[in-house]
Amino acid sequence: MTNSVTMERVVALCKRRGFIFQSSEIYGGLASAWDYGPLGVELKCNIKNAWWKAVVHERDDVIGLDTSILMHPLVWKASGHTDNFTDILVDCKKCKKRFRPDQFGNQCPQCGSKDFTDGRPFNLMLKTYLGAVEDESGLTYLRPETAQGIFVNFNNVLDATHRRLPFGIAQIGKSFRNEITPGNYTFRTREFEQMEIEYFTRPKDAEKVHEEWIQERFQWYLGLGLRKENLRLRKHGKDELAHYAAGCTDIEYNFPFGWSELEGIANRTDFDLRQHSKFSGKDLQYQDQVTKERFFPYIIEPSGGVDRAALAFLVDAYQEEEVKGELRVVLRFSKQLAPIKVAVLPLLKKNSDIVHMAQRIKKDLQKHFVCVYDDTAAIGKLYRRQDEIGTFYCVTVDVQSLEDKQVTVRDRDTMQQQRVSVSGLKDYLVEKFS
Ligand code: ATP
Repeated sequence: MTNSVTMERVVALCKRRGFIFQSSEIYGGLASAWDYGPLGVELKCNIKNAWWKAVVHERDDVIGLDTSILMHPLVWKASGHTDNFTDILVDCKKCKKRFRPDQFGNQCPQCGSKDFTDGRPFNLMLKTYLGAVEDESGLTYLRPETAQGIFVNFNNVLDATHRRLPFGIAQIGKSFRNEITPGNYTFRTREFEQMEIEYFTRPKDAEKVHEEWIQERFQWYLGLGLRKENLRLRKHGKDELAHYAAGCTDIEYNFPFGWSELEGIANRTDFDLRQHSKFSGKDLQYQDQVTKERFFPYIIEPSGGVDRAALAFLVDAYQEEEVKGELRVVLRFSKQLAPIKVAVLPLLKKNSDIVHMAQRIKKDLQKHFVCVYDDTAAIGKLYRRQDEIGTFYCVTVDVQSLEDKQVTVRDRDTMQQQRVSVSGLKDYLVEKFS
């Protein structure tokens, strides 16, 4: 078994099998924008569902929200994005490429030259104009993070749910950043999806709660199958922290292009609620029911990217191995994340009895699992196709099945096969997935 996965192989598999396509490909593509294909959308859904289940449904203290991408322009003034959401940009004097010196050191990533302009701040917010007239009065932005939608709804959620501290609000949604140097496939793009929790706590508890969320989020990635040796925590140095943050720790994954951030977990202090109170004129303080004391809660923010998580799960699952002298590519996704759980395959597609039986089995199973039916190749090839997309079980219907009403169930990882009666098949699989 080899684990020397390269991005080229993962990218090729994603295109070939329908996980990820280049955006607008027939027009030559739009740089750093990607479309998720039939399997990619299932994978992303599974990631988002697993996150929602873990941070909302299985907890007593977190509730969900879905806020709009477009917000009042003052939101971005209050949050500091209009003035400070910048990266330092330099131009290479030789080849004219623009890049972020903090990512590429003192050498141009395109031509290797060390001769570039002085750094200048570049705002990463994507502008858009609302209304029929394209002038400054209609200027607003596509949100660069989902968090602000949560902060500005703090009072609404509190009034609607009567929550007591500590509690959190979770949200999944698209965000946009005009990145100077997007790249590494879906790792850094200008349009991406975030999964964010804003957890409100008493200031005195913030440090402890921060530490708990770091551990909780780290375990989530491990629980969904990322290998421990490929995951690490990295605490930000004082010089890296936003001016309002009291601490931040990143969860990093060891991608083929190096250790890179999957998620940041920050202690944002009471900065956000204070700022929005100041700019909106609405008091966003919390009132203690017993002491009647009013104060701004501290906020712990675990903020991860759906696309980055999907890429890490894809890379981590990718394995090549030799089986009977042939190369087998297998995506060893966890049971929760595998886009397809069961494939139903007829051994002989010319035998209509076998085909009908297989199709009937698929129809029954698809009420319980995400299933596919495939009869477009010989069985060996069909198995390899399913391995390559991480399908957990293949159910094969053969001539014998017509007689004994049993099918062969093949396990993706062990490749072991077992005869199972059709009447007990659903329960057999339910148990395997539980
Ligand atoms: P980076 O340092 O990589 O630019 P960041 O620290 O600015 O990221 P945050 O603002 O903390 O990122 O955003 C939270 C999460 O959103 C990140 O951990 C990442 O998973 C995701 N994310 C941020 N920017 C992008 C992007 N351009 N493309 C894809 N995902 C992103």
